[in-house]
Amino acid sequence: MRYTLNFDTRNLKSTTTDVLVVGSGISGLFAALNLKEELKVILISKEGMTTNNSYLAQGGIAIAFDEEDIPTHIEDTLKAGSYYNDPLAVKILVEEGRKNIERLMRYGVTFDQVNGRIDLTREGGHSTNRIMHKKDYTGKAILEQLIRTVTNRENIEIFENAYLVDVLTRGEKIVGALMLRGDELEWVITNHVILATGGIGKIFTRSTNSAVSTGDGIAVAHRAGALVEDMEFIQFHPTPLKGDGEAFLISEAVRGEGGRLRNAAGETFMHRYHPLGDLAPRDIVSRSILMEQELQGNDDIFIDVTHFEKGVFMKRFPSIYKACMKAGIDPEKDLVPVSPSEHYLMGGIVTDLCAKTTIRGLYSCGESARTGVQGANRLASNSLSEGIVFGYRVAQYINQCRAFTPDKSHHQFSGLAILNKEYLPAVEGLRQLMDYSANILRSRQKLHRALEEIQRLQAEFCGFYSRERSFLEFKNMIAVSKLIISMALLRKSSMGSHYIEEDQ
Ligand SMILES: Cc1cc2nc3c(=O)[nH]c(=O)nc-3n(C[C@H](O)[C@H](O)[C@H](O)COP(=O)(O)OP(=O)(O)OC[C@H]3O[C@@H](n4cnc5c(N)ncnc54)[C@H](O)[C@@H]3O)c2cc1C
Repeated sequence: MRYTLNFDTRNLKSTTTDVLVVGSGISGLFAALNLKEELKVILISKEGMTTNNSYLAQGGIAIAFDEEDIPTHIEDTLKAGSYYNDPLAVKILVEEGRKNIERLMRYGVTFDQVNGRIDLTREGGHSTNRIMHKKDYTGKAILEQLIRTVTNRENIEIFENAYLVDVLTRGEKIVGALMLRGDELEWVITNHVILATGGIGKIFTRSTNSAVSTGDGIAVAHRAGALVEDMEFIQFHPTPLKGDGEAFLISEAVRGEGGRLRNAAGETFMHRYHPLGDLAPRDIVSRSILMEQELQGNDDIFIDVTHFEKGVFMKRFPSIYKACMKAGIDPEKDLVPVSPSEHYLMGGIVTDLCAKTTIRGLYSCGESARTGVQGANRLASNSLSEGIVFGYRVAQYINQCRAFTPDKSHHQFSGLAILNKEYLPAVEGLRQLMDYSANILRSRQKLHRALEEIQRLQAEFCGFYSRERSFLEFKNMIAVSKLIISMALLRKSSMGSHYIEEDQ
């Protein structure tokens, strides 16, 4: 179906804007701030401004601070991505990182320093220390400054709790969008829509992602006919705190600063799986954990920081320390139990190097975009940098576009029946299906079974509509899950985070 709701714009309140930015994470905010101030911008966020993955980011932002580090950062990114990355996109990410960090700092963002110099830390897959950070709450520190700045910009109007339902197209061109505010469906007339809608974690039972990560932007773009690719490449972080539901992350920077992984017998084991040991790329560490669990016949895996000098862990990782203590674990004395969970999507809406999608006037940046930067597995802390580099690029592109005449002709759609059935148990069922089939270790048989089940869910629910946000999200989750499973089945061999057991 082209649209997910029945509507008739003649009955809707309308607003005209030069640019609609969807998302209040780092990429949406940075794009909005870099649009020229003559442009009228509406920025929407489906919940509050800080409910997103950017706010949760802990470890930091990877930047080649010195010129000499540029080739190494490029190589580390390509290597972590199994050389499936777009080399030009990676070059841009790395070369333009520093300039964009300087822009970020001009908005008042600060990073930890030692003796007057930026303190650079290290994470998995990096061959040197290049990660700028603010303790273990880098995302919060960045977002607070960006939100403060965006709120003071006269040309930017912010709508919280505003949900993008669909973009409106005429031919292959964007002419507007539909957004839901409370029960009210509104019509935004615009020629430029930036989808900075983040990840997809909530299609799995356990994810580090914020509650808003249901892949809406990807589903919206796909319904509009934009190209979506590489959805099978999903990163599972090796070390969220073990537990049900929300997966609180134990940042990779903890291993970067000397934390060690231990198995149920208390032994370190990563040196047996990869020369970089505990600091191997994430896809490898997550898989190694599963293999080690099987070898030991025991699922317990821990991070050990008990050898840190007293007080050091608490000072360097205050949020993680607090979360552990809340869970009854004292990291200074106890091993911290961890278990891999969904973390990041490498694929998404295909864009060029200016964040343009295959639909005119539709752009994407940040985690929802597939720029080619991340390849088959993202290098740690390259996501915040992607957000600023491509957020800036999309703004520069739009800034030089000629002013548009708004297309105010009306749109209607009436292909759907009103929802008349219970769907919430099916949402949980979908999550379990994705856990079963699209996890760290995959099999073609499971993927085939999952595809059949998703097609059944699609037939059961996607012919209906409702203005309930959770139902609209559910339909997007079905669409995104189908893209993941179909693309996983199309890929002929294992690569990066997409790992088929029977191929080994
Ligand atoms: C716990 C955690 C720790 C991380 N640590 C790091 C790190 O240290 N370094 C690093 O580089 N990366 C890290 N990452 C990854 C990184 O944080 C994210 O990939 C990145 O912040 C994504 O930014 P974004 O702007 O694309 O999306 P997000 O920050 O997720 O923002 C998405 C926005 O889109 C909005 N939205 C979505 N759908 C709709 C809709 N239908 N209508 C309206 N609005 C919508 C949401 O409300 C939200 O505001 C971490 C991720 C997590 C979860």
